[in-house]
Amino acid sequence: MRTALITGVTGQDGGYLIRHLLAKDWKVLGTTRGFQDGARPLGLLNEVTFIDWDMHDTSAMAASLSLHKPSAVFNLAARSSGQGMFDEPVKIIEDNGIAVTRLLEAIRMSDPTIRLCQASSSEMFGRVEESRQTERTPFKPRSPYGAAKLYAHSMIDIYRRHYGLFACSAILYNHESPKRSESFVTGKIARGVARIKLGLADGLKLGNLDARRDWGYAPDYMEAMYLMLQQTAPDDYIVATGETHSVREFCEIAFGHVGLESGDFVSDDPVGHGRAAEVPLCGDSSKARRVLGWQPRTQFADMVRLMVDDAIRSARQLTL
Ligand code: GDP
Repeated sequence: MRTALITGVTGQDGGYLIRHLLAKDWKVLGTTRGFQDGARPLGLLNEVTFIDWDMHDTSAMAASLSLHKPSAVFNLAARSSGQGMFDEPVKIIEDNGIAVTRLLEAIRMSDPTIRLCQASSSEMFGRVEESRQTERTPFKPRSPYGAAKLYAHSMIDIYRRHYGLFACSAILYNHESPKRSESFVTGKIARGVARIKLGLADGLKLGNLDARRDWGYAPDYMEAMYLMLQQTAPDDYIVATGETHSVREFCEIAFGHVGLESGDFVSDDPVGHGRAAEVPLCGDSSKARRVLGWQPRTQFADMVRLMVDDAIRSARQLTL
């Protein structure tokens, strides 16, 4: 049986990655800073062996890797984006950037054959000049979050070239699921629609409805990360759908799914949710499609509908 370590296993993506690995007969080790929203509702945490892990201590990480002997590490531990992309910049650089260098060092010191897949981010592109980004598009991050992810991404490349580590970087575009929290617009809309449908709320306040994102489905993106570690050589891949949709479209499909008209319920949020560097990123995932044989399986509208269905189920349970 092969063993994988997932750092940050209790976030949105962790639960889906656990499910994918278990289906492939892997043993799963996990680390967490605390129990959040992802893996617990999927009911999979009993399947995970939690190990001691301190992302601020390279020697302790190396000792833990030597003890538990994973052959693959998926680094999902990060301070998340959403509205927090500018909050606590020093902690963001520490946890999303420097901690990755410590992890690379720990792998090099303990067992350089361990394969690493880093959750990188489309935020690294920042203000883009190309309407569709590829692995060759220059990075110009415009937030501490993007800058920290780019630092980590660069170190992955450096360790791959200099030390021959099997280290990969998955340039993940926005990816959503029923486990998405309300600090992200998709989670907020899905839950808002559910509350309105069940008579628990009478409106939904949102920021910029014209903002666009290349939104994919989180489980599909975890499959891409898994496939990256199954190749004969390490590399970086864009993981994206290649389509953008607006917040307005998301609302229309979400409300339409429960027989309502979004225009009757959505109003402007005076708090505002604008992003300082608002650019519609759109990823060209041709390389992942060609080399990994990967493709996004879940279409945008289907994802919106399944998020709303899940939010309705959860809201009903809460009101019982
Ligand atoms: P991220 O900005 O890509 O990390 O993801 P979000 O889901 O937080 O935001 C996506 C887009 O939705 C951004 O352009 C926001 O400005 C826009 N947006 C509009 N209304 C809202 C809202 O009420 N909450 C959030 N989080 N974003 C909103």
